[in-house]
Parts: sequence; structure tokens; C-alpha cells
Amino acid sequence: MLVEKVVSPPLDNNAYLLVDETSKQAAVVDPALAGTELRARAEKLGAKIVYVLNTHGHPDSTVDDGSLRSAVGAKVAIFEVDAPRLERNARESRWFLAAPPAPVKADILLKEGSDVKIGDTVARTLHTPGHTEGSACFYVEAAGILFTGDTLYAGSCGRTDVFGGSPAKMMFSLRRLKELPADTHVYPGHGPETTIGDETWISDLTYPVV
Ligand SMILES: [Zn+2]
Repeated sequence: MLVEKVVSPPLDNNAYLLVDETSKQAAVVDPALAGTELRARAEKLGAKIVYVLNTHGHPDSTVDDGSLRSAVGAKVAIFEVDAPRLERNARESRWFLAAPPAPVKADILLKEGSDVKIGDTVARTLHTPGHTEGSACFYVEAAGILFTGDTLYAGSCGRTDVFGGSPAKMMFSLRRLKELPADTHVYPGHGPETTIGDETWISDLTYPVV
């Protein structure tokens, strides 16, 4: 299994290409505006993008969902609670996007524990609300890696003062992630990579993350 990262507009988003090297199937996690680059990377590796996995429904991380699906026929997946955001985003202008993204109806509505199979690679859905109501992390247990979107960053976490955010739920979600093995490698939605073991501050959380 191989992971490639593209740091992308509109907000220095981390977009990931996850490749199952045996089957040459691939998934994109949070495409942001890196759809073209991610397709080029997959092509170079001889891989086919079969899923677009969204950690949550914010427009900065999902803006290329529709264009990727049209270009490669990938299925768009998102935790069910955040799915309506993909259509709502098309009705709202954002300062960081030249135009609202096209509306997208999700192909797959993920639930807690949903497994997404990319060839022999299994990504499990962990519901981690707090940044949005339907934020989720994708855990590839066999490889010891976790895609955290805007839930967990190196040294901090995503904002909770936005629509659908919840400081209390964020605390619960971070504590949940802290239960994963310490050597779990974390690929966040912004900023550098880390491990669960390095994020010692989570253990000290006493009050909701504001
Ligand atoms: Zn976000």
C-alpha cells in the first residue's frame, strides 16, 4: 500500500492518493482542488481511482469531488450525516473559491464502522464529530495509518466554532482516536503528518475543545 500527498489550494489542503499496489485500485481522500494532479499521479502508478473518500463535507476539501467522479468514474463516499453538505455547498459562495463547487450527490453513505475496500486494502470509517457533525476518520488498521481530515492535526485539532461544530464532541472524538495504537501514522487534512503517540496533549484534555 502506498500513500501520496498533494498540498493543494484553496487552503493548503492535504489531498491524498491511497494505492493498493496489488490490485492497482486507488482512493482519493479529500481531493480539495488537486483532482487533476491526483489523476496524473494515479496514472503514473498505473492505478485506477475507484473511490473519493471525504472526511467531511466542507467545500475546501470536497471541491473536486464532482470533477474527479466525472473524469474517472470513482464513487463519492462520505459519512451519511455530512452528505447533505455536498449539495448545499453549491448554493454558498466562499471567499476561498472562485465559484461554488458543482452539487454532488454522494454515491456511498458511510456509517460508523463501514469498511471501504480498495482492492485488498480496507479503510474503516470512524465517526469523529466535532469539526462537523458528520466528520469521520479512515483507519487502515493493517497498515497502521489513519486519515483524520480536520479532526486531528499535528499538535492541534480542527475548528469547532463553525456550523455543525461541537467542542464537546471534538473532545470525545480526540479521546477515541487516542485509543488507537501509539504508532498509528496520522495523515491530517492540513499540516504535517504525525502519530497518535506523539499527540500527548489529547490525554490532558479536561474541558471541551473551544
Ligand atoms: Zn473542514
